[in-house]
Amino acid sequence: MSWGIRGKIFGLSALLVLGAVAVSGAYLELELRGWTRGRIEAELRSHAEAAAVMVGRLGAADPASLDGLADALATPAAARVTMILDDGTVVGDSEFALAELDDLAGHEGRPEVIAARAGGVGVAERDSASVGTPMLYVAVPFAVVGASGTLRVARPLREVEEAVARLRVALGVAGLIGLLGALLMSAAASHLLSRTLRSLVRDARRVADGGGAHYKIEVVAQDELGGLAGSINRLADELEATVAALAVERSRFEAVLESMDEAVIAVDQAQRLTLINRAALALLSLTVERSGETVGERIRVPALQELVEAALAGTPERREFTVPEPTPRRIMAYASPLRGASGAVVVMHDVTEIRRLETIRRDFVANVSHELRTPVSIIRANAETLLDGALERPEIARRFLEAMLRNADRLAALVGDLLEISRIESGSYELKLDTVALAPIVARIVDSVESLADERSIEVIDSIGPEVRVWADAAALEHVLLNLVDNAVKYTQEGGRIEVVSRVEEDGAVRIEVRDNGPGIAPKHRDRVFERFYRVDPGRSREVGGTGLGLAIVKHLVEAMDGRVGVDAVTPRGSAFWLLLPRSG
Ligand code: ADP
Repeated sequence: MSWGIRGKIFGLSALLVLGAVAVSGAYLELELRGWTRGRIEAELRSHAEAAAVMVGRLGAADPASLDGLADALATPAAARVTMILDDGTVVGDSEFALAELDDLAGHEGRPEVIAARAGGVGVAERDSASVGTPMLYVAVPFAVVGASGTLRVARPLREVEEAVARLRVALGVAGLIGLLGALLMSAAASHLLSRTLRSLVRDARRVADGGGAHYKIEVVAQDELGGLAGSINRLADELEATVAALAVERSRFEAVLESMDEAVIAVDQAQRLTLINRAALALLSLTVERSGETVGERIRVPALQELVEAALAGTPERREFTVPEPTPRRIMAYASPLRGASGAVVVMHDVTEIRRLETIRRDFVANVSHELRTPVSIIRANAETLLDGALERPEIARRFLEAMLRNADRLAALVGDLLEISRIESGSYELKLDTVALAPIVARIVDSVESLADERSIEVIDSIGPEVRVWADAAALEHVLLNLVDNAVKYTQEGGRIEVVSRVEEDGAVRIEVRDNGPGIAPKHRDRVFERFYRVDPGRSREVGGTGLGLAIVKHLVEAMDGRVGVDAVTPRGSAFWLLLPRSG
């Protein structure tokens, strides 16, 4: 850089020096030429006039004496002296001997001679025809006895050229000295300038690199460079303010992004991850971001990669896919190209729960239709059979009518349970939680199942003490326990044993258990028996008039009372359906 500046300064000053030398040289040369020529002319003129006076004093015009005088005058005047008579005859010339004068051509036509004869003094400049060099001629008239003519003094103009040549040499030397001066000056100026510039550049670089907080360039001089330093400082201030504003903006943007429930990832044109928010890390079970990885390397889900590729190609696309690990999840993703930048952004939602609920609802509708269709078709078939003639045969007709009644009851039970479950789910089943004494409820239940239990020789034991109190809705609790006891009676074999017990847990919750020594429930069914229409043994359930909804209703009601419900095995055989309810204060 410094050489560049030095070169430019030198070039500029050299140009200035040379320009000045050339212009002043041309002017001086012109002046010198004019002045030298003028001086020579004046000298020649005074010599010519003096010579004319002297010739006039000669008296007679004797050619030999005139030529001798011309020779004598030429030496002090350092000039050629020629005397020309009015008829053009040359009567004296310092350059030629007397004998040679006749050979000289007639001089009457020379411009200086014509001018001298007309006006007194004639001056002309030309290459001499006689001696062949550029000459200055000054002619004046003279008169001698019996003749008149023109006396001409001439001197070669070599002197002018010599003076000009000397001037040129002097100017050349001056130009050289000037160039040297320019070189030195430019070196000194560029050294000073480049040192200041270098320190400016260094400081500016430090400012650009951050340079520690609030780094400022020192403004040393109030000149243009000082102004530049000031400008850089102002620029740095503005930069700092802009960076700070951007940082605030970015942290706000990140806060929004991080607090979003939607998972968001962004990629650049090369599919490298440029952004991945907390929700996305959680959804895709990723650990903290590592920079520079592509979607394919980081998130090994082919569907997501295809989506990103489509978005990068400019097509926004929506797709649902499953992420198998660690637990399978259904994800709905929407990828679109970034507007105003290259890359793409993908927004993802976890729709696992929505899809699960949709499946449950679909299954439920299918199950309900199926459950309703079966008793309806039995009633219909039996009615048809009766109409087709079975009515005439009372012993068969009774069987058909009983079956119709059974299925009508089943239908009623099913509709009743469905209504109940929909009331609970829609939230219109209003629970009034209160302190409830458990013993009277269980006593009523045992009473209501007594006849059925007796029929099958099942013993129902009520072990609830009068002091047990729970925080519950009395009607809902009775409904729940009736369902459990009723199930126990239905599914326990003849001669079985059922017991309702309770105990207070360490945390104060009350655990109520309905235990039986029936067939029990295999571990794989234990969670699922609380699902709607889930039956361990569908045939047996229908046989005993079950709807498949009893335990689902139980679960809903218990959870609505802030309790929990479950089933354990009883050894050696049997089930223990339990509920945990908060203890009444
Ligand atoms: P259901 O109307 O069929 O009884 P539930 O929801 O009440 O429907 O019960 C679901 C299933 O759980 C029943 O079909 C039955 O297979 C099983 N189950 C319920 N209670 C018992 C029990 N005490 N012993 C054995 N299995 C039971």
